[in-house]
Amino acid sequence: MSKIAIIGGGFSGLSAACFIAKQGHEVTLCEKNESLGGRARFFSELGFMFDMGPSWYWMPDIFEDFFAQFGKKSCDYYKLVQLDPGFQVIYGKDDVLQIPARIDDIYEVFENIEKGSAAQLEKFLAEGAFKYKVGMQHLVYKPSFSWLEFAEKEVITGAVKLHMFQSVSDYVRKFFKDERLVMLMEFPVLFLGAMAQQIPALYSLMNYAALSLGTWYPIGGMAEIPKAMEDIAASYGVRFMTGCEISKINIGTKKAISISSKIGEFRTDGVIATGDYHHTEQHLLEEQYRNYDEAYWDKRTLAPSCLIFYIGVNKKIKKLIHHNLFFDASFENHAREIYKEPKWPDDPLFYACCPSKTDMSVAPEGMENLFLLVPVATGLEDNEAMREKYFGIIIRRLEGFCGEDILNHIIFKRSYCIKDFAKDYHAYKGNAYGLANTLRQTAVLKPTLRNKKIKNLFYAGQLTVPGPGVPPALISGQLAAGQLLNYLNTKQ
Ligand SMILES: Cc1cc2nc3c(=O)[nH]c(=O)nc-3n(C[C@H](O)[C@H](O)[C@H](O)COP(=O)(O)OP(=O)(O)OC[C@H]3O[C@@H](n4cnc5c(N)ncnc54)[C@H](O)[C@@H]3O)c2cc1C
Repeated sequence: MSKIAIIGGGFSGLSAACFIAKQGHEVTLCEKNESLGGRARFFSELGFMFDMGPSWYWMPDIFEDFFAQFGKKSCDYYKLVQLDPGFQVIYGKDDVLQIPARIDDIYEVFENIEKGSAAQLEKFLAEGAFKYKVGMQHLVYKPSFSWLEFAEKEVITGAVKLHMFQSVSDYVRKFFKDERLVMLMEFPVLFLGAMAQQIPALYSLMNYAALSLGTWYPIGGMAEIPKAMEDIAASYGVRFMTGCEISKINIGTKKAISISSKIGEFRTDGVIATGDYHHTEQHLLEEQYRNYDEAYWDKRTLAPSCLIFYIGVNKKIKKLIHHNLFFDASFENHAREIYKEPKWPDDPLFYACCPSKTDMSVAPEGMENLFLLVPVATGLEDNEAMREKYFGIIIRRLEGFCGEDILNHIIFKRSYCIKDFAKDYHAYKGNAYGLANTLRQTAVLKPTLRNKKIKNLFYAGQLTVPGPGVPPALISGQLAAGQLLNYLNTKQ
């Protein structure tokens, strides 16, 4: 039995801990914050329960695959419901598109907007289904140390159909002309952290996930997922140390690793570091053991940060549903202000999540739990005055759409932005979603999962493979665990 340390208690750290402990190793997970979940932590105030980060539960199959590895199902831990409508896109006060759960109803919605688009969507989703299948079965579960890993029959013969070298933007425009449909189809890749012009059309598999596999929600909130993972890890004996920030990864003689925190130094047989990769390398490791230098990181394309407001409202708001995308401003301008000319947006798009529409447990009776999010560039100056300015802008837009007073019914409000991401998670430049999935930052071209100089040190999380998002973070932890287990097996 080996002694393994996992740094970080987000999805990737919890996932890695479960897989390693299941093989009988002694696993200690150290998390700097007082609670587990990482970017998916939650807090409660005045009877409201706020998920702090993710709110979209897409690709339920990936979650089930994770639970199945431990003989479990998601329903052993939480009740999953499919949202219907899955979400709504607000293009203007009276111009709203709701996306139903049933695929035939989605075809009808498309056809009503653009003649012939139902047939186009069917074709688009069939191609998306192929990409999803190949992506999940042959691409994302690879550690990505070499392109040869991808030299499989399905990938080679299907290469043309994967559309790796075409952008999502060009691809979507081949199918749809109406700008509202184009925006709708480009929106899922925003999760991947770059403009649709920069993301390979392979990732249109996200549309398949959004429209064909549906939008789901775990009753109790997204925080139910890390709680379930903590339960599994604990059942295999993982020891959790919260409020335990690792300040150094020490490499000793014969490359033995120990980690230091204010509690002391702890010797290990292997480490998986799942905190933000840049912080781990630049601040915890001595220079000679780092994979990358500061100049490398500076050249990476980061996914955005965001300005978030967690809000408790003492009444119900009629026109909102669970997920509301306010696309009533220029998508192109906002994307440019995130990725090309980083600055606070002139006229932001924003997202309003209202989980109390589905789940009575996240707000007191008769009240509404609101999560408002404006994507912004990383590294911007973040201060209270700026946050308040944007709060004013989006609350007016929200009230305008809903046609009712919301501001005077707010009984709880907390903001969260770049400075908080940096302080709470050591996020490089205050990123929220890690590293963008551009073509130059895909698979082998991402920061690697293994330390090239220390054989028993691995990385996991949204800045390495396979990329940002909850399902990729689960997979990343699994991949790093697999590599460390290989190392332990060959050593013995
Ligand atoms: C606002 C927001 C909304 C999102 N929405 C969605 C969504 O709807 N759907 C979706 O799929 N994804 C979403 N994502 C992305 C998703 O949440 C992340 O990709 C995922 O949670 C990342 O998990 P992780 O384990 O890589 O990192 P983290 O969750 O950041 O976990 C890393 C952990 O390491 C800890 N740590 C760092 N340094 C140290 C140290 N020195 N010592 C000890 N601990 C340390 C950190 O405190 C942190 O808890 C969203 C993210 C954000 C921020």
